[in-house]
Amino acid sequence: MINTILGIEIGGTYIRVGIKKTNTLNDHTQYKIVKKKISIRDNLFEEIEDELFTFIDMILEKEKLAINRIGLSIAANFDRKTGEIIYWSNNPKWEGCNIKEKLKKKYGTEVLMEDDANCGALGEFYYGYRGKLNSMIYLSIGTGLGAGIIINKSLYVGDFGKAGEIGHVISGLGDSLCSCGQRGCYQSIISGKALLNDYFRESNKKAADIQSLMNKVKMNGNIESKLLFRFINILSNCIYNLVMLFDISHIVLGGGMVQFIIEYIPKIQEIVNEQLKIFKRSVNIIESKCNENAGVFGALCLKE
Ligand SMILES: [Zn+2]
Repeated sequence: MINTILGIEIGGTYIRVGIKKTNTLNDHTQYKIVKKKISIRDNLFEEIEDELFTFIDMILEKEKLAINRIGLSIAANFDRKTGEIIYWSNNPKWEGCNIKEKLKKKYGTEVLMEDDANCGALGEFYYGYRGKLNSMIYLSIGTGLGAGIIINKSLYVGDFGKAGEIGHVISGLGDSLCSCGQRGCYQSIISGKALLNDYFRESNKKAADIQSLMNKVKMNGNIESKLLFRFINILSNCIYNLVMLFDISHIVLGGGMVQFIIEYIPKIQEIVNEQLKIFKRSVNIIESKCNENAGVFGALCLKE
């Protein structure tokens, strides 16, 4: 049997499992990742339990692995003492579920847990940028908006373990209703869901998805271009605020929306640096290197 740690990421539609041999812990080029489509959204844990554990068991058996530790990445708000899920906007049926305990009981091993933005930050820090940065903020722009903060090579989680909730920082720009019930949160403007909502509000038409909306931008549709311009400007404003607050020189953009705005990253950096000039600092806005695997890489990095 080979001693390993497992990194498990549970998303809305996929589970990803990262495998790392314990004798290669500091070598971030050595790993294996497997993923499986499991319809987690809309199902109770009990409804997918067998499928989830069978998938993990199959990996362990096939690779002849013994688990020393499990790191778990989940896009939910959870109790740091117990591991119980408190709030998961994309999957409310899992609220109250203690997946950490269930994994611990099933595999008889230590289970460490972090939210997806914090895991994404660790993944980019160690696997994407190979520990070469001193501090960075991983800004995850997908259906929602979140951040993971690395300061002096360590993850900063805050006094309540909930640092990085930039999505619910009130921007003072616009009055769109956020999923948290407040108005004008950054997430209600800078996220895929917000962009689709704004498009509907402005045009009275529904875009099938972000891709179709962005195709229209490329055809120079007026409403679409205006919305993208606003998105880019408010994202720049958000990054400026983060840099002013944390004095961090590297912002890593990740999440499902990044592929659609990648060509605008130099423009965003230019806008932010112009604002930062009078404060004698600058920022490098860089793209995710781990893409969809940032969270599972981060789960592999979790330590007590
Ligand atoms: Zn909010």
